[in-house]
Amino acid sequence: MDYDTYGSTAVELAIELANTDRTDPEWARTFLASHDDWFTPGTPLELSPGETHKAGATAELVRAVALAQTQDDVLNRLNELLTLARPRPYATDHDGELHLHYARPDAPVLEQLTTTVAMGLSQVVAQQGWQRLGVCSAEGCDDVYVDTSRNASRRYCSNTCASRSTVAAYRARQKA
Ligand SMILES: [Zn+2]
Ligand SMILES: [Zn+2]
Repeated sequence: MDYDTYGSTAVELAIELANTDRTDPEWARTFLASHDDWFTPGTPLELSPGETHKAGATAELVRAVALAQTQDDVLNRLNELLTLARPRPYATDHDGELHLHYARPDAPVLEQLTTTVAMGLSQVVAQQGWQRLGVCSAEGCDDVYVDTSRNASRRYCSNTCASRSTVAAYRARQKA
């Protein structure tokens, strides 16, 4: 499996969307601006409040897929997410490498986002197995992650959480 392919990087967009803090009403604008390389250059990155709500629902669905405990559950939630996708793949070499994009290039930004996220996530689940998604084991963190390690050994959302937990476990042993 080549993790540099577009499908497996698109899943990172899904995970980042799911983990984005949505307390600020402008969260979607901030998220889109910091991930603008995912969208066709020139696509307006503005979302109406209604579209922002839909982007939030997509984020919730990604999270639901990652939290699901059985294959049936994953399938149901993944299919719910996929009903939001409007795939129309096309080939591009905009970054110098020939690869596929999932959404039509002239789609509104919400459609590009939802389609890329749903297809990227589904691709990884279908190819790697639903157990590849999980929720961070660090105390006080409930971010989700996708495990692309060779031996599927990942337990934390980030290196920060992994080392924080190692330190905490060490201190707990010292006390005991
Ligand atoms: Zn691209
Ligand atoms: Zn974490």
